[in-house]
Amino acid sequence: MSTPDQRFFDLLHHDTASRAPGEPYSPPIVSASMFAIPGDPAPGQPAWQYGRFGNPSWGALEDSLAVLEDAPVAIFPSGMAAVAAVFYALLKSGDRVLLPADGYFTTRVLAERFLAPLGVAVETCATREVASRDFSGLRLVWLETPSNPGLDLADIAAAAARAHAAGALLVVDNTTMTPLGQRPLDLGADLVVSSDTKAINGHSDVVAGHVAARDAALMAAVRDWRRIAGAIPGAFEAWLVHRGLETLELRWQRMNDNALALAQRFSGHPKLKALTYPGLPGHPAHQLARRQMRGFGPLIGLELADRDAAERFIHGAGCLRTGTSFGGVHSSAERRARWGDAVPAGYVRLSVGCEPFAPLAAALIRALDAA
Ligand SMILES: *Cc1c(COP(=O)(O)O)cnc(C)c1O
Repeated sequence: MSTPDQRFFDLLHHDTASRAPGEPYSPPIVSASMFAIPGDPAPGQPAWQYGRFGNPSWGALEDSLAVLEDAPVAIFPSGMAAVAAVFYALLKSGDRVLLPADGYFTTRVLAERFLAPLGVAVETCATREVASRDFSGLRLVWLETPSNPGLDLADIAAAAARAHAAGALLVVDNTTMTPLGQRPLDLGADLVVSSDTKAINGHSDVVAGHVAARDAALMAAVRDWRRIAGAIPGAFEAWLVHRGLETLELRWQRMNDNALALAQRFSGHPKLKALTYPGLPGHPAHQLARRQMRGFGPLIGLELADRDAAERFIHGAGCLRTGTSFGGVHSSAERRARWGDAVPAGYVRLSVGCEPFAPLAAALIRALDAA
């Protein structure tokens, strides 16, 4: 298996040597719906046939992501479209699916509101209790680790072995860690889904997602869903993600370094009732994090006294974007209770960005002191 450094090097250069003289290195943005198809098309020939089936701008992004995932990739117009593709392509009436009770809220809403009425039994389990949950009779087990926003962990390799023994597929939503920070497919997961809106694009200017799987039949089902249901990304959006992806390794390194150093600085701060970061030795799953993750991610959970203290911290810093997303170049923070997540009113999810460390740390410590 190649090293993460080698994989990212290969991502940047997989098409360097194949360019014809005068061909652009940056992939063109192709908006065509119609492509020339002379005679009777053979399967997959010509490569581009109709805008809903595929597009050279998506192809460029899928090729790059496939190098990073070390697996075939299908891109989608949002992370939720990727989640939906896995659900609708692989589940049928009578199947049982296990979702994280503390994972991305909308994944649960999609299943409960739209799959359950079609006869899919939707069950939930807290991430930290996955290890002791009985998987028998399940068709699909869904993990999100670290969970969002609580930052609990589940052991992917152990869950994969148990899911397979029970005849279930294991899907991992790898949004919080990216393929640079965590390798679910290498650990035995059958499918990975990702919201590329977050760190993969990284610039908070596009909504996108992808699915990766090494099993050809699983991937064919996901691609068929996209082609038939029509949940397709735009060429410009694919181009933007392709562009953002090229600096992921640099951004990921900086975010991880910043987040770990900040979490260490925050430790023991009198304004904090609780501090959650998988990179701190006090995190209940720190040893698993060291084994399973490369870096500990950009997200830190900070619990302040109450809602007002949390708001004073967020606004007092002057350098925290207040929107709802994470993994971007700019640090951002929000109280997740404002969306109804099951966390205390004073719980802040801080997404650490790529700013130079010293001024960022100074601003955040100052804001915490004054919160
Ligand atoms: C944001 C997110 C999603 C949904 O992605 P969109 O791009 O917003 O559709 C799914 N899972 C996780 C863990 C996320 O953070």
